[in-house]
Amino acid sequence: MKIALVAHDKEKEEMIEFASKHKDFLSKHELYATGTTGRLVSLATGLKVTCMKSGPLGGDQQIGSLIAENKLDLVVFLRDPLTAQPHEPDVNALLRLCDVTKTIVATNITTANLIIKQLESEQK
Ligand code: PGA
Repeated sequence: MKIALVAHDKEKEEMIEFASKHKDFLSKHELYATGTTGRLVSLATGLKVTCMKSGPLGGDQQIGSLIAENKLDLVVFLRDPLTAQPHEPDVNALLRLCDVTKTIVATNITTANLIIKQLESEQK
């Protein structure tokens, strides 16, 4: 599977915990991420991640473009629901494209964990 990881600043710690917890699963798949998220995950876990530009600098749009081309199977986008983001339009566009293409997407950690659990059970 091709999996994208994106986390807003206040959710980055949670994303690192998520990637560490599911390292075995994630290591079997192709990972993409926005710039800062990808660097932090890769540094903390050693996972190989293809990094786009930083989210606010166009990274969300780059991930969105992969979604539009049906090149991603799962998007884990840990959004910060309590802080205004300067690139809110890009965030909305990315999530909209997930719906357009019916790409599996989690926007909070509970859903993300549930999806991984399900995917792991399907692989057994
Ligand atoms: P970042 O981008 O991983 O480069 O911080 C995430 C975002 O805010 O979209």
